[in-house]
Amino acid sequence: MSRRGMHDVVVVGAGMVGAALALALAREGFDVAVIEPRAPAPWRVEDEVDLRVVALAPSSTGLFGRLDVWKSIVAARACAYRRMHVWDALAPGELDFDAADRGESALGWIVENRLIQQTLWQSLQNDARIALHCPARVTATEADAQRRTLVLDDGRSLSARLVVAADGAESALRGMVGIVTQDRDYAQRAIVAHVATERPHESTAWQRFLPGATIAFLPLADGRSSIVWSVPDNEAARLLMLDDAQFCAELGAAFDFRLGVITATTSRTAFPLRMRVAERYLAPRFALIGDAAHVVHPLAGQGVNLGLRDAVELAVVLVDARDAKRDFSAESTLRQFERGRRSDNALAAHAFDAIQRTFASELVPLAGLRGAALAAVNRIGPLKNFLAARAAGR
Ligand SMILES: Cc1cc2nc3c(=O)[nH]c(=O)nc-3n(C[C@H](O)[C@H](O)[C@H](O)COP(=O)(O)OP(=O)(O)OC[C@H]3O[C@@H](n4cnc5c(N)ncnc54)[C@H](O)[C@@H]3O)c2cc1C
Repeated sequence: MSRRGMHDVVVVGAGMVGAALALALAREGFDVAVIEPRAPAPWRVEDEVDLRVVALAPSSTGLFGRLDVWKSIVAARACAYRRMHVWDALAPGELDFDAADRGESALGWIVENRLIQQTLWQSLQNDARIALHCPARVTATEADAQRRTLVLDDGRSLSARLVVAADGAESALRGMVGIVTQDRDYAQRAIVAHVATERPHESTAWQRFLPGATIAFLPLADGRSSIVWSVPDNEAARLLMLDDAQFCAELGAAFDFRLGVITATTSRTAFPLRMRVAERYLAPRFALIGDAAHVVHPLAGQGVNLGLRDAVELAVVLVDARDAKRDFSAESTLRQFERGRRSDNALAAHAFDAIQRTFASELVPLAGLRGAALAAVNRIGPLKNFLAARAAGR
């Protein structure tokens, strides 16, 4: 802690996004504290692959590279995907993205959440410039002209010139500073599991749209696929009750048997889906990032990629202000971050929402649009390049 008795920045929440921001700022010489209620569950190579995986865009793996964690993540377990193939149950259009067309070796990587979290956590623990408070929660906060103060559940208090909330979709801190969200409940659940397939996954991320549902098959390093099957709540409840053979038969049919017969290899679990957008990202000496600021439908696999872009943008704005000898926690500085990221995140959230609505519909006029939309995107080079670049985080 500085001689003034306060940190430069306190990051609340050490999920993937908060931990990445804390490391990025510490490496730039900021005095950082992190508050987290629970350390991540340990990751071990001999354990079953974590059921939660994410598709990381090159913008995210690039950040992890700069934070010196990417090499050890890849060495532990990760799977590059070189192609993405999207098609629809109701219409003939298909959409293909190939890394080779863009002169790249991969479109992105599939990595276990727990592996990323543990690797970042170890870096936090090993960084002498970071004060890690765990287990700890914030119970109250207030700001004055110089600082924001946080009261922790063990009675201690911490002060910082800036507090960043990265405490996830249910962010307690967001509520404490009075930031409200706009929510849309999709009344859907995403069922996740790892399955074996008769045919190889070809290092391809596969996605099929069906009426009211989407299925993604994401390639795993051991040859299996991680599925994300988003279906209405009541359908999810039914699918979760099926035995393995029945579930795999239904999954195979819904996936058009694109990779042949499917065999269960893990249990299944499900996550409720919603869109949630914070109406603002700022309060005095306070900023929101990651899922605390925006939750999007997982159909495009972009949630954490957007959050990591928040972390990059905020770090850039803070470093620039400090280097120019300006107050890095002043509202005018934080506005630069908010302007850049809120429009980008809102655009993404509403685009995924629109795709979800179009493809969820069984109405004939909309169904007619589905194939046409996919076919058009596939034919129009610039539009496809634009979508590929967005997926890659550029
Ligand atoms: C089924 C599914 C599939 C997905 N697939 C993808 C994908 O392929 N690609 C992708 O980019 N995204 C994907 N996502 C989204 C992605 O998982 C999230 O966007 C990401 O985990 C958010 O990270 P975060 O660090 O912002 O929040 P979180 O991961 O929620 O982390 C928040 C942290 O804050 C801590 N915390 C909570 N409360 C407090 C408190 N009161 N005080 C202090 N700390 C607190 C928590 O313990 C946690 O460590 C998917 C989501 C789902 C549901």
